[in-house]
Amino acid sequence: MKYICPHCGEKAFSPLQKALAGSYRSMGKPCPNCGKRCCNGMASIYFDSIVSVIAFVLIMIIYFQFDASQKTQSSILIVIIIAVSFVLSFLFRMFFGKLVEPIRRMQ
Ligand SMILES: [Zn+2]
Repeated sequence: MKYICPHCGEKAFSPLQKALAGSYRSMGKPCPNCGKRCCNGMASIYFDSIVSVIAFVLIMIIYFQFDASQKTQSSILIVIIIAVSFVLSFLFRMFFGKLVEPIRRMQ
């Protein structure tokens, strides 16, 4: 399974390379075929914002539900939530959305 480069139209990106290409606001990664930079489109930005809102709400719930004696458990849960949201964003970029040209271009 490969993803099409928006510049040359070749199926040049593997899911892992696509995930590592970053978001629309990043510099992107060069295409293995034509060398022009590509990044993930708007879909990954929408998904990232949904995930970060959910993570924020969960962290707030944990923050207010746990008292001082449960500080270790609540810290561990918060770290898990942040890790899970990072993994979800990464998996989304691997398997969903299209590659596009980055806004920021190399000079
Ligand atoms: Zn290309």
